[in-house]
Amino acid sequence: MDFSLTDKEQKLWERAKKFSLEHISPKASALEKRREFPKEIVQKAYEEGLMNLHIPEEAGGPGLSLLSETFVSEATGYGCAGIATSIMCNNLAFAPLVIGATIEQLKTYVKPLITGKEAKFGAFCLTERKAGSDAAAVATRAERDGDEYVITGTKCFATNGPQAELFTVFASTQPELKHKGLSVFMVPKSKNVKIGHIENKMGQLNSVQSEVIFEGARVPQECLVGKEGEGFKIAMQTLDMTRAGIAAIATGVAQRALDEAAKFANIRQQFGRPIGKFQGIGFKLADMGARTDAARHLTRYAAWLADQGMRNSKESSFAKFFASDAAMKNATQAVQIMGGYGYLEEYPVEKLMRDAKLLQIYEGTNEVQRLVASNAILKESVNLDTGFHVDYEGRDAPKM
Ligand SMILES: Cc1cc2nc3c(=O)[nH]c(=O)nc-3n(C[C@H](O)[C@H](O)[C@H](O)COP(=O)(O)OP(=O)(O)OC[C@H]3O[C@@H](n4cnc5c(N)ncnc54)[C@H](O)[C@@H]3O)c2cc1C
Repeated sequence: MDFSLTDKEQKLWERAKKFSLEHISPKASALEKRREFPKEIVQKAYEEGLMNLHIPEEAGGPGLSLLSETFVSEATGYGCAGIATSIMCNNLAFAPLVIGATIEQLKTYVKPLITGKEAKFGAFCLTERKAGSDAAAVATRAERDGDEYVITGTKCFATNGPQAELFTVFASTQPELKHKGLSVFMVPKSKNVKIGHIENKMGQLNSVQSEVIFEGARVPQECLVGKEGEGFKIAMQTLDMTRAGIAAIATGVAQRALDEAAKFANIRQQFGRPIGKFQGIGFKLADMGARTDAARHLTRYAAWLADQGMRNSKESSFAKFFASDAAMKNATQAVQIMGGYGYLEEYPVEKLMRDAKLLQIYEGTNEVQRLVASNAILKESVNLDTGFHVDYEGRDAPKM
């Protein structure tokens, strides 16, 4: 068991932290007032090589591990969860393609977006107004017409939708088969792909989400990823892969809340001593620290499992719900520790609280994560031997 990072990982972690401290933290609060996509910072992150990390080398990417991705997500999340979401959103948009597309498809559709001078974006289009947690309820249709597919339907909440050049779209090719009729397509921006309503949010204001309307958008047959009917499976594999990234952003938020609260607790004096010296405050800091470390370990373990080619549905769900709950709890505690100042916009922690809330919702709500995890636990328990043999239906109750 070795918790240390390799030289390459350590360098990436240091580089991402430096980037976040220099370019994200100092600007995040002012930028969020504009409620705009943070174009300049994302461009800088792209130039620094902090985007598109999981795209294979053959398709123009650096082909780094998911574990490496968590370093960048945590470091950027520490600076601003909204900017981290804007930077890391390509991971979500392109993950279904890394999973299901051929290298030739990646070279044609993804490589041009990740190898030019300017950062370019994809958007992951699964959610619809009537299909949120229940992804199988997707109503967007893809109908075959000769050598083409015609895509019709409206997606919502698509992160980086207005910026995107390529849309990863989940659409039904056989609606009567429900989730088994779902397929995934790469849909380049065109006149039949329109941006609809821009979502107005509570937090993560440095990221942009929108409706994306496909009005009979035509794509060649080669834009189908995998086979018809594989969309649901690819969506689930994608979320297993990307949940660790959200958990990493959440770990960054949890750490930032702890750091801001601890700094304040050392300086702020009441009753003749720093408030951190009151047990009521000190114990909060201890719990915040333990939650942050636990979140980081769950996150890195979930990513490491995927890097080893091992199934990580349960562990990535653990990481996602634990780390985002930790971020929310730490942010709330940081506001409390900072008293009235915690509630003011001039201080950083009210933003952390607004930003953290979203981490419990997107890429599968924490209720859904607990469903995934509990189903896995129940399945594992069927053949579990605890050494205590009892018929729980009551026929052979043990003699104590
Ligand atoms: C800022 C933001 C960015 C997003 N980015 C993207 C994106 O890029 N691409 C994309 O496709 N989507 C995106 N989403 C959508 C997001 O993934 C969904 O909002 C989320 O999956 C929940 O779906 P819903 O909002 O429809 O809620 P619903 O599914 O309607 O859920 C409502 C409530 O019911 C609970 N619930 C639902 N089913 C169950 C169940 N079986 N058991 C217990 N509780 C349940 C939920 O946990 C939740 O509390 C984004 C959302 C937001 C807010």
